[in-house]
Amino acid sequence: MNSVLNTDIKYLRGVGPKRAELLRQELGINTFDDLLHYFPFRYVDRSTMHHIADISGEMPYIQLCGRFVTFTPAGEGAKRRLQALFTDGTGTIEVVWFNRVKAIQESLKCGVEYILFGKPTLFKNHYSIIHPEVDVRQPEQEHTGLQGVYSLTDKLHSRSFTSRTIQKLVAALLEHPAMTNVPETLPPLLLAKRRLMPLAQSLVTMHTPSDIATLQRAQLRLKYEELFFLELNILRYIKRSGEKAVGFVFSRVGAYFNDFYFHVLRFPLTGAQKRVIKEMRRDMGGGRQMNRLLQGDVGSGKTIVAFMTMLIALDNGFQAAIMAPTEILATQHYETIKSMADPLGVKVALLTGSTRKRMRDQIHAQLENGELQILIGTHALIEDSVQFHNLGLAVIDEQHRFGVAQRARLWRKNSTPPHVLVMTATPIPRTLAMTVYGDLDVSVIDELPPGRKPVTTIMRYEKDRFPMYQFVGQQLRLGRQAYIVYPLIEENEKLDLRALEQGYEQVCETFPHYRVAYVHGRMKPAEKDFQMQLFASGQAHILVATTVIEVGVNVPNASVMVIENAERFGLSQLHQLRGRVGRGADQSYCILMTKYELSRDTRHRLEVMTQTNDGFVVAEEDMKQRGPGDMEGTQQSGIAFNLKVANLAQDGQIVQTAREDAEEILRADPELSSPEGRQLDARIRLLYDKQQNWSQIS
Ligand code: ADP
Ligand code: MG
Repeated sequence: MNSVLNTDIKYLRGVGPKRAELLRQELGINTFDDLLHYFPFRYVDRSTMHHIADISGEMPYIQLCGRFVTFTPAGEGAKRRLQALFTDGTGTIEVVWFNRVKAIQESLKCGVEYILFGKPTLFKNHYSIIHPEVDVRQPEQEHTGLQGVYSLTDKLHSRSFTSRTIQKLVAALLEHPAMTNVPETLPPLLLAKRRLMPLAQSLVTMHTPSDIATLQRAQLRLKYEELFFLELNILRYIKRSGEKAVGFVFSRVGAYFNDFYFHVLRFPLTGAQKRVIKEMRRDMGGGRQMNRLLQGDVGSGKTIVAFMTMLIALDNGFQAAIMAPTEILATQHYETIKSMADPLGVKVALLTGSTRKRMRDQIHAQLENGELQILIGTHALIEDSVQFHNLGLAVIDEQHRFGVAQRARLWRKNSTPPHVLVMTATPIPRTLAMTVYGDLDVSVIDELPPGRKPVTTIMRYEKDRFPMYQFVGQQLRLGRQAYIVYPLIEENEKLDLRALEQGYEQVCETFPHYRVAYVHGRMKPAEKDFQMQLFASGQAHILVATTVIEVGVNVPNASVMVIENAERFGLSQLHQLRGRVGRGADQSYCILMTKYELSRDTRHRLEVMTQTNDGFVVAEEDMKQRGPGDMEGTQQSGIAFNLKVANLAQDGQIVQTAREDAEEILRADPELSSPEGRQLDARIRLLYDKQQNWSQIS
């Protein structure tokens, strides 16, 4: 890299030691180059001036030109604020500041002409603008064109940093001599082939675009670059790990599998289940270690698929294991699998943290001599004292709770690694799966068992609480069960627990003739299990809980899921919760209880839930709203990534192109040893050093 761009940010004009420290701490900006890559998170069109009289509906950021009429300090302590009235001759609008009240009041004057830039919000029937950008109007220079908006932290705001501050620093940087020599990172052939904008020009354009078309070309170039190096890194990693992964050969399907399929299984498998089992048979018969991710929406029937795959291992004389993230889930798997295994004479055991010592010793012994064929458990499975006779297949359920390192421990128990099947109900869009799980092959169960009725999802407000309870009551009288879920987040734990408790009391009072179970994450595991068991066995009819029930719990008789404060949940989480109902043949319902005033994004999120039951649609929407880095299931996949410009939800086409180009380069130069290859290799090291270490663990 150009060494001048590596200069400490404190030497940039307008920065200095104090600001440098803030930029470092708050935004991770250490050098000129970091600032150069700190892009605006959105752009605003400042070529149009709005009139106050025209403000209506939901509006984006707008620009107003006018004067302040009054300033009124209000409130005390934490509620202190400054309210002002601003007029442009067509009307007046209220402007409010909550921070730096004194400084702002001192810096602004009535009567002076200002340009205000902000987002009008409707509150109690009139519009106001909170914390707008305010500039004295300079008659000679109109604000025009696109302007970048940089995101800042609260701390920066409190130190008087604004988006404008960053704009000024960037302007100083763009004038710096270092900018005349920004080295290109992509090979010239690729630039030409894909007609990409050179790096230096793209960087400048990102900060100061002349128009939207040019901005888009700059974004395209930077997205492409980001994805190209990501793909190059992943493909090289796959190639390397593919070379050494020798696996057991499971050549036959024998008595256990056939006995189960023809005599025990009570329903026909869905087409998707059959296809996935075939894919895995092929994997396990081929001499290479299977590393497969099985995705299937909640209720799609992954457990049976996993069980039948385990039977193939048994048919070939091997043992199999299932690891689940919680004790409740492990127990549930144990019960399901035991009921299917018993008729076959297959020996199954459950091993968790609360397994008694005598039982534990017995399990250890039988596992080592091979008598025990299937072991089901929690993290307890990966303790060193657990030694298998010959583990042939490891199934990991709901993998986002397990890190790569844990996965690795399970398969380091043998000299030859067992085949690995990772199951998840978090639907991961294809583009993302391809990129994130580069080291796993992906199978999808995209079909629900027949007879399932899609869950009907509706939104309700507080005023509908009574009719909502009436509805729940009707379902209970039909013999069904209901979940009532409350949010609980750590930052807000005390308040949340109180809301949960009050909710529980209210439910008990409303339904005096039904038994109500009560679970939250802060309970002792034994108490939690007891309460869950009450509900699972049908002794309790209502379960009031936090999201501890999110993953995997299976109570087919439950037909109602009420989600309190639904606006506080993310889309994927809502979908997971909804998946707890609709597991039996009855029509099921999901009721989203929300407050009345919702932001547009939140309302949209809840509407998505009411419109679709398709986990993939939900996941795509979730990714669009939150960005893929936040997706559940991507954090611990081993190939972490932090995309700055590219968006996997929207840039599938670029991912594809970048991947093809990376493949082509690796075909011609597998070791990246040509002069050009070595440059790419150096770039990968620079970008992925930390992650490289991660991926080597598995
Ligand atoms: P998942 O783990 O994918 O959420 P499960 O494996 O727990 O789903 O299956 C949910 C329910 O559907 C279970 O009660 C299971 O017995 C049933 N099931 C699975 N496959 C089928 C099928 N092909 N036909 C009918 N019911 C099925
Ligand atoms: Mg399951």
